[in-house]
Amino acid sequence: MSAWLTFLAQKRQQHLDELCEFLQIPSVSSLPECAEAVVEAAEWVANRMQSAGIEEVCVFSTGGHPVVYGEHRHATDCPTVLIYGHFDTQPVDPEDLWEQPPFDPLIKNQRIYARGASDNKGPMLIPILAVEALLKTQGTLPVNVKFLFEGQEEIGSPQIPEFLETHQELLSCDLVVSADGVQWAADQPAIYLGFKGICALQVDVRGPVTDLHSGIFGGTVQNPLHALAHLINSMRDADGEICVEGFSDDVQPLNDLDRQQIAAVPFDEEAYKNRLGVKTLFGEPGYTTLERAWSRPTLEVVGVWGGFQDEGIKAVMPAEAHAKISCRLVANQTPQAISEAITRHVVRHTPPGVTATVVSLDSQALPYTIPSDHPGNQAAHAVLKKVYGKDPYYVRLGGTLPICDMFLEKLSAHTVMFAFGLDDECIHAPNEFFRLQSFERGLQAYGLLLEELATYPQGNQ
Ligand SMILES: [Zn+2]
Repeated sequence: MSAWLTFLAQKRQQHLDELCEFLQIPSVSSLPECAEAVVEAAEWVANRMQSAGIEEVCVFSTGGHPVVYGEHRHATDCPTVLIYGHFDTQPVDPEDLWEQPPFDPLIKNQRIYARGASDNKGPMLIPILAVEALLKTQGTLPVNVKFLFEGQEEIGSPQIPEFLETHQELLSCDLVVSADGVQWAADQPAIYLGFKGICALQVDVRGPVTDLHSGIFGGTVQNPLHALAHLINSMRDADGEICVEGFSDDVQPLNDLDRQQIAAVPFDEEAYKNRLGVKTLFGEPGYTTLERAWSRPTLEVVGVWGGFQDEGIKAVMPAEAHAKISCRLVANQTPQAISEAITRHVVRHTPPGVTATVVSLDSQALPYTIPSDHPGNQAAHAVLKKVYGKDPYYVRLGGTLPICDMFLEKLSAHTVMFAFGLDDECIHAPNEFFRLQSFERGLQAYGLLLEELATYPQGNQ
C-alpha cells in the first residue's frame, strides 16, 4: 500500500472529527443572518488548507460571500489543476423534519448526517485531505494544484463570474476538477459529459384596454387567453417536436458514440412511469427517454395566467394573458439565439386583434459539454475503474450547472466532474447525509487522480 494511503487510514478518525467540526458551522448563504457563519466557514477551510501544507492560502472578499484560494505549485513542467468546491449550504427548513439538529452532525450506520454533509462540505474536504496525505508522505505533488472554494454556490454564484474575470492569471490552469457533483450510485461510478443551458421567457398578450363583459362584448373582439393558447400551441406539435423556426438550428446532433453511451446506462421505463404516476411517456419522436432528458432541447410552458381565477365564474373577458416558458438548451444553442427565435415566432403567429411581447427572465445560462474522450475524462475513467472495479457510465444531466461554462469562458479550461456525493443523500432536504464509504473512496480517488493527471497534456484543452 502506498505511504499516502497508510497515512489516510491512520488519520481516519481525525478526518471524521474535522468534518464534524466543519459541519457545525451554519454557513447558509441565502440567509443574511448566516453571513458571518459563511465567513467563519471560509476561515475554517483556509486554516485547514494551511495545515495541509497548501500555500498562498487567502480568503478573498467578493462583494458577496467570500472565496478561498490556495495553491501548491512546485511540479515543474507538469500540468496545473484547479480544484473547485463550495462551503456554503442550503437552508435547513423544514427543521422539524430533521432527526437531529441540522448543524449538530451525527454519525450513524456508516453515514454522517448534517446540512452540507453531501452538498458540498464532505466532498470538498476530500481533495484537501488527499493533497495533505501526498505532501506529508512524499513532500511533493505529481501536478501543480490550485484550489478555489466558494461560499455562494447555493445562491447562484452571483459574484463568481467577476471574480474569475479579475483573477484570470491567479486561477489559470490546464483543467478544472469539480468536487461538487455526484456519482451514479454507491457501487457505480459515472462521468458527466454535459449539462443543459436555460433560457426563460415571459409572453404577455394584450387585447382590449380593460376587462370586458363576456356577454356584451364576447364574440366581437379577440380574447387574449385564446390568443395565448394559440401561440403556445403553435410552438410544439402534438408529438412534442418543437416548431419554433430556427430553434434547433445550432443543436449538435447526437452521434453514434453518444447514443451508445446513453443506451449503455440501464433505464427502467416502467419504474420511471410508476415513479412519476403517468401511464405513458411523451416526447420528441426518434429519441429514447434518456436521450430526450439528457441531450435534446426542450420548450416547456411552466406557468399560465389570466382572467378570473377564484371560485365560481365571473362573466369577464380578460384584457391580458401571460405565460412563462422555460427552454433547456443543448450544445451549441445560446439563450440569446433562442430568445430571438421565440420572439420572431410570436410576432409571426400572433392572431389579429391582440399584441404580444416576449421578455427574457433572469434565468439564462449556456449549456456545457465536455468530449467523452477528453484527456481529463480519460484520467477520471482510469481512476474510477480502479477504485470501483468497474467502468463508469457516461451520463449527462437535464439540469443546469453554470459554473462549468464560467470556467470554460473565463479560464478557457474544461471541467471534469469528480465528486463523491450521491443524489439519494437528501441534498437540499431534511436529514442530508454523506456516506463514509464515499468519503474514503473519494480520498483514495483524488490521490490517484492527481497521480494520473501528471501526464495530462499542458496548454488548455
Ligand atoms: Zn446544492
